[in-house]
Amino acid sequence: HMADEECDYLFKTVLIGDSAVGKSNLLSRFAKDEFHLDTKPTIGVEFAYRNTKLGDKIIKAQIWDTAGQERFRAITNSYYRGALGAMLVYDITRNETFENVRKWLQELKEFGDPDMVIVLVGNKSDLVDLREVEVEDGQKLAEVEKLCFLETSAKENLNVEDAFLQMITKIYKIA
Ligand code: GDP
Repeated sequence: HMADEECDYLFKTVLIGDSAVGKSNLLSRFAKDEFHLDTKPTIGVEFAYRNTKLGDKIIKAQIWDTAGQERFRAITNSYYRGALGAMLVYDITRNETFENVRKWLQELKEFGDPDMVIVLVGNKSDLVDLREVEVEDGQKLAEVEKLCFLETSAKENLNVEDAFLQMITKIYKIA
């Protein structure tokens, strides 16, 4: 975990999960406090930074976003290389994206570090009327797979900060 001038630790983390679950918006919420109604998936990997103070230490989180690559399954070693944490996102209004969580966990096993901190996130909790995945379903899966779990809304800015901070704090405790 490299140190640079303005921070004590630099943690690489990655966002994964199906297309359109809200990864880009979770990232822009956390890094820039912005939300966009129609984000255009660009091709290629993007990342953003945010500094967080934990005790007397400054942690710089470098958060990678697939930026549309997930639909081509073109994510490879370089995306996961050196990543200490992963935020695995599904959309509570699309059951399919929850079912695919297992595929993403499989991919993490294949490409990721075995000690990687994984936070499972059910996003779009503001869309109560469209809910297809119950909170309990997310909780149960997280229990079985030993992951942290939260529901978030990038739109309403609910739990977004908490989800990233849980990941960063857990990495810090392990590191
Ligand atoms: P990505 O492909 O996983 O990066 O998903 P995006 O961040 O591009 O979001 C896909 C779509 O879902 C966009 O139209 C967003 O505006 C919308 N979206 C993202 N997060 C939320 C949320 O928390 N609530 C609602 N209602 N819409 C969201």
